[in-house]
This record gives sequence, C-alpha cells and structure tokens, in this order.
Amino acid sequence: MINYNWRINNPYVFTQHDNEIIITGRALGKPWKDKHYKEVKDRIREHLRRQQNDRCAFCRLHVPSGQFYPHIEHIVPKGSREEFTFVSHNLAYSCQLCNFGKGQRSTLIDPVCVDYPMRGEEFNIVHPYFDDYPDHIDFIEELLIIPKNNSLKGRRTIEFYKLDRTKLALDRAFELNINNNAISIDKLTLRLTREDDPAIIETILALIDAF
Ligand SMILES: [Zn+2]
Repeated sequence: MINYNWRINNPYVFTQHDNEIIITGRALGKPWKDKHYKEVKDRIREHLRRQQNDRCAFCRLHVPSGQFYPHIEHIVPKGSREEFTFVSHNLAYSCQLCNFGKGQRSTLIDPVCVDYPMRGEEFNIVHPYFDDYPDHIDFIEELLIIPKNNSLKGRRTIEFYKLDRTKLALDRAFELNINNNAISIDKLTLRLTREDDPAIIETILALIDAF
C-alpha cells in the first residue's frame, strides 16, 4: 500500500492578518466564496497541500495544483454550521469530486454541538485530523475503496464522498500505473464472489472489463 500521510498533524495557524481579514469579512456578511478571503484561502490551501502531500484527504488521489483547482473541503459543511467555516480542524485539501460529492450532509454526531468537537468519536465519518483512515477504510488491489471490518465510519465516508465511484478506481489504476500485467483479474474475480454491495460489484466488473 502507498505510504500516505494518513492524518493531518498540523492544522493551519491563522495569522493576525488572516484574523483581521476574516473579522472584517464576517462583519460585512461576506460568504466563504467571496474574493475578500482569497489570500487567506490561498495560504490555507498551500499549507494543507504540503501537509497532505498533494493528496485529497478522502479519495487519496493526487490533486496536482496546476491541473485541477484543488478545493478546501469543510468537514462540517459551512452551509449548516457557518461558525465553523474558519476553524482550522474543519478544513482539508480535497479534490473537486469529493468536495462536491459530500455537499451539505451532516458529519457531526451531535449536529447542534456548541464548540467544534476535537475527537474522532464525535464525527460520523473518518475525520482527517482525528481518525486514522486505515482503521476504517481498506483497498482492494489498491484500486477499490471499501469499508474495513464493516466500519460504520468507513461506510459513511465512502457513501458521503462517493468513494465507490467506478471512475475513481480507474483513476487510481492510471495514477498508480497499474496495468493488466500488474493487476490480478483472478483476485478481482474472487472478490466479486465475496462482495454483496451492488456498488462494489459494479466497480469490480468495470475494472475487470477495463483490464
Ligand atoms: Zn478526492
């Protein structure tokens, strides 16, 4: 398995200058997407990009900063909890598909908690700062993302970020340069007989077809 940086160990530290921009923007009612915050967001994105080795926190694909516009994903959606918009631990570098995939789904166990929770148990998905991804998520042949030991967190992360999308498995094959010499069709076929999740079965069939 690739040696990813599974957890984000160093959250972004807002500077005094950042805080001034944020306070001014909020007083004027400017939303996250407003260009008022651009320089702050650029600094956050660059910090997280380095922390995450250029990889999306959810699908773990490489997100080249020059090719696709990398996103800053709000783990707790900013639409539901606006006050967590600029909480460092709520921000992760992600690809566009994962960011849009999750949308406004709630990731909090207690959706009305007052302070931003600082423990993995308080989130219903794998939290990039508080949980270890490999405890909850596994890969079949490095390509297919599945829940580990039926982990509920793993299952929800896959569901929320659509990590069972067929295209993702194919993108992983392309990125990892896994071709028909390197992949074991036999192992994939064997896996077919073990899985009962229709989405996973569909993806395995697509992979067998692609190779
Ligand atoms: Zn992603």
